[in-house]
Amino acid sequence: MLSKLPGVATTIFTVMSRLAEDHQAINLSQGFPDYDCDPLLVEAVSDAMRSGANQYAPMTGLPVLRELIAEKTKRLYGAHYHPEKEVTITAGGTQAIFTALSSCIGPGDEVIIFEPAYDSYAPAVRLLGGLVKPYELTPPDYQIDWDMVKKLFSVNTKMIILNSPQNPTGCILSKEDAAQLIRLTMGTDILILSDEVYEHLIYDGQQHHSMALYPELRERSFIVASFGKLLHTTGWKLGYCLAPEQLMREFRKVHQFNVFSVNTPMQAGIAAYLKDPSVYAGLSGFFQQKRDLFRAMLAETRFKLLPCQGSYFQCVSYGHLNELKDKEMATILVKEHGVASIPVSAFYTKGTDHQVLRFCFAKKQETLEKAVERLMKF
Ligand code: PMP
Ligand code: GLN
Repeated sequence: MLSKLPGVATTIFTVMSRLAEDHQAINLSQGFPDYDCDPLLVEAVSDAMRSGANQYAPMTGLPVLRELIAEKTKRLYGAHYHPEKEVTITAGGTQAIFTALSSCIGPGDEVIIFEPAYDSYAPAVRLLGGLVKPYELTPPDYQIDWDMVKKLFSVNTKMIILNSPQNPTGCILSKEDAAQLIRLTMGTDILILSDEVYEHLIYDGQQHHSMALYPELRERSFIVASFGKLLHTTGWKLGYCLAPEQLMREFRKVHQFNVFSVNTPMQAGIAAYLKDPSVYAGLSGFFQQKRDLFRAMLAETRFKLLPCQGSYFQCVSYGHLNELKDKEMATILVKEHGVASIPVSAFYTKGTDHQVLRFCFAKKQETLEKAVERLMKF
């Protein structure tokens, strides 16, 4: 059979997590916490199950949860999203991304992606017949030159995918980036898919520049969020999408046929839990403390630290130490040193290798300490 995705192999997250397991390594590759979520949240979901919330949820999600999300977005970004018409609960950020793309990308449409980029974007665009226009960012600071972005525009440019805080680089969009984005897209039909799953994981008192903050951008944006990051529950695969009514109408046409609706008791439990927003108020402080600890320890190794302003990923470069490709380096680290990471070339369409590795620091202090103890020996 002719492959619809020739050249695409198993995702790097699965590959590295499996290698970590095979070699009983400390797994700092795939991004997920190694500690549990709040027991009150588990209780809230269990209560929902016990009280019979076990059949299909409404196609767009439980109203109580959509209302809470609309309130949260209004409070944080001053944007009004109508809970009935402009908020949809999804099976994680991944489905929201896929559904948003499916609702508007067709053969020949060009999509600008900033690389290194989360690995689901490009294959999803290609599956739909779209063309990926990668803009390669480079370490150490992975800054965007918006005049270069403009050079990628053509009459077929349909969408720009943004991700801030960014996986894998930990970089964030600034107010100036948002202003440039407005300048470049005003008066065009270009849509934005804004992957904001790490919106709360932002450090040093910086502000998250959500597309929701800017009316000129909001009106053309699908915004994607994930409860996996907000609640330390990546395995629950629940998230949501925000979009203005006209875009959301198209989103839901696809959503109703690719999943219809998502996990009812978890939606009910999350809604009950999130009634008190203080449950996630300390999230950035919680992760900042982990980032600071991890960076301070890594500074004692021979790796070079790259900046980390957000997300739960810390990148390091090692080009000053050897000539190894990042995939080779990651393999050596997991097999011989017992620490799994992600080679960042996996996030470039062309496999560009800057000899950078990504570590996830959403881990217990003792896990991070043990991992760095091993990395010290490299
Ligand atoms: N976008 C980015 C940037 C991610 O890192 C992830 C990983 N979780 C996702 C989307 C997908 O989120 P979810 O697990 O909720 O599908
Ligand atoms: N978002 C996580 C990461 O970047 C994992 C996602 C996945 O396993 N698909 O590591």
